[in-house]
Amino acid sequence: MEKPRRGSKQKRAVLSAAVSLANHPTAQEIFFKAKEEVMSISFSTVYRNLGILVDEGDLITITGTSAGSEVHYDHITGNHCHIQCSTCGKVRDLDVPVVNFNGILPSDASGFTVDGVCVTFTGTCRDCRKKTDSKGEQL
Ligand SMILES: [Zn+2]
Ligand SMILES: [Zn+2]
Repeated sequence: MEKPRRGSKQKRAVLSAAVSLANHPTAQEIFFKAKEEVMSISFSTVYRNLGILVDEGDLITITGTSAGSEVHYDHITGNHCHIQCSTCGKVRDLDVPVVNFNGILPSDASGFTVDGVCVTFTGTCRDCRKKTDSKGEQL
């Protein structure tokens, strides 16, 4: 059986970096990981390939909740919710039921047809809570 050969070596390195980092990495984190595979890869190549992978549906982007926060990438492209730490900006999956949008009519959605849900909650992660918790409670 012939393996599907799509995209360049760089693109495959970018995707495998995003998949192996798993926890919603930023472009910068993917860049450092992809460099382990393709030492000569540049940040602009990584960035360009991330855009292609998003266009092709292999990755989704999660935009931070605060202005100027970095874009995070996720290889789990199905509808799911995220939570972002408002202190350090890390993004994790949030295991709550996703809003069911199947029954939403264009008349309820300002004329839009709905094809996905992207909800990002905000909070404070365990690491940041530890830093601010003077009691040093084990969490
Ligand atoms: Zn944090
Ligand atoms: Zn996710």
